Amino acid sequence: MPIDTLISAEDIQARVAELGRQITADYGGQEIVVVPVLKGSFVFAADLVRHIDVPLAIDFLGLRSYEGTESSGVVQITSDLTKSVEGKHVLIIEDIVDTGLTMQYLLQNLETRKPASVKLASLLHKPARSKVKIPIDYLGFEIEDVFVIGYGLDYDQHYRNLPYLGVMRPE
Ligand code: 5GP
Repeated sequence: MPIDTLISAEDIQARVAELGRQITADYGGQEIVVVPVLKGSFVFAADLVRHIDVPLAIDFLGLRSYEGTESSGVVQITSDLTKSVEGKHVLIIEDIVDTGLTMQYLLQNLETRKPASVKLASLLHKPARSKVKIPIDYLGFEIEDVFVIGYGLDYDQHYRNLPYLGVMRPE
């Protein structure tokens, strides 16, 4: 299937660098724990952390939501953090906030672990599909209601390696 470019690699890189600068300024040298949500955010996270200039640790978290094509809000942690985040400043890194149900679950779950603070960086947001309001502290791009692939995001586990964000065009 042909793929149309939605956001070019250059535009992504420029925005990610900007977000990194903003995050660096906001934390003002405080140590943080970066929590990329697997698998979709791994490319974004790898690029973003290289633009964050504060001391940081990384701990990955795997989530799966039970769904057909629609997110149900019933979420399972498939791979948990390896260390306690009690008293730590946590920065979650997500690929996309769609309905918001996955993030709602994760934010509630993390709160019970008593971190000093929790912030969210998401590469993408589809406001048209929002079911719950999720505060996104650092947002890459707001997009229309289209299914995107590339830059970590998959279609049936493929296309994560594209350096840009694309949309499949049905023929
Ligand atoms: P939510 O719970 O916000 O509806 O779902 C978030 C998750 O659904 C994302 O982390 C992502 O894995 C998946 N998702 C939502 N929209 C898209 C999309 O356009 N493309 C891809 N590849 N995954 C998506």
